[in-house]
Amino acid sequence: ADLPALDAAVSECRACPRLVAWREEVAATRRAAFRDETYWGRPVPGFGAVDARLLIVGLAPAAHGANRTGRMFTGDRSGDVLYAALHAVGLASQPTSVAIGDGLELFGVRITAPVRCAPPENKPTPDERDRCRPWLARELALLRDTVRAVVVLGGFGWQALLPVLATPDPAGGHPGWVVPRPRPAFGHGAHVTLEPADAKRSGAGPSMTEPGAAAPLEVFGSYHVSQQNTFTGRLTPAMLEDVLATAARAAGL
Ligand code: SF4
Repeated sequence: ADLPALDAAVSECRACPRLVAWREEVAATRRAAFRDETYWGRPVPGFGAVDARLLIVGLAPAAHGANRTGRMFTGDRSGDVLYAALHAVGLASQPTSVAIGDGLELFGVRITAPVRCAPPENKPTPDERDRCRPWLARELALLRDTVRAVVVLGGFGWQALLPVLATPDPAGGHPGWVVPRPRPAFGHGAHVTLEPADAKRSGAGPSMTEPGAAAPLEVFGSYHVSQQNTFTGRLTPAMLEDVLATAARAAGL
């Protein structure tokens, strides 16, 4: 399996009855401003480079954003903030993300989420989070040879991601990373370096680690780009750009 195959497979998932009903209801009723559009209305796959060195992990698709356009953080205010920041630090080809086919390209970056279907009020249940976890685990397994850093947007993504990182790839290809107990706390600017669980790297340092070798993973936290945070100034563009630029350097981008 490869990432395009995984993306195609996740797009067909119907494992969560509440989320399937919601994503399809939103797609059928639409918002007035998008009345003439055909909504995606399905699980949203990851977006970006198949050999990403930096992974960005959000929460879940927005009802009228990614659930409409079919691409992560595309077509809503949260995405406006995220893609503007990615462009500002040289990780995206343009500052806006409008729709699939708009020419946007990410440089060494992939964006994903621990829950792939739009949830009511942006709140997945713990059951839904756990049911969706294997999709993120498989995505990480397919990126394991290249990914060196992760930026997690918000506490939900942080709590969802750490158990995935601590678990070996079920296909046996990667031992996972050592996640300290108690688990590192989320916060804006949080940073933790996770060593690979088998710790058999050469000792030459992250930048010298050969592709395919077990390598440490640098995990960074940022407040989520939700309107509650960006409209109130809790998260400013400069704060987000700072975390992204730091993570990009850690990833060797
Ligand atoms: Fe499937 Fe995840 Fe969507 Fe649930 S949230 S239906 S597990 S893709």
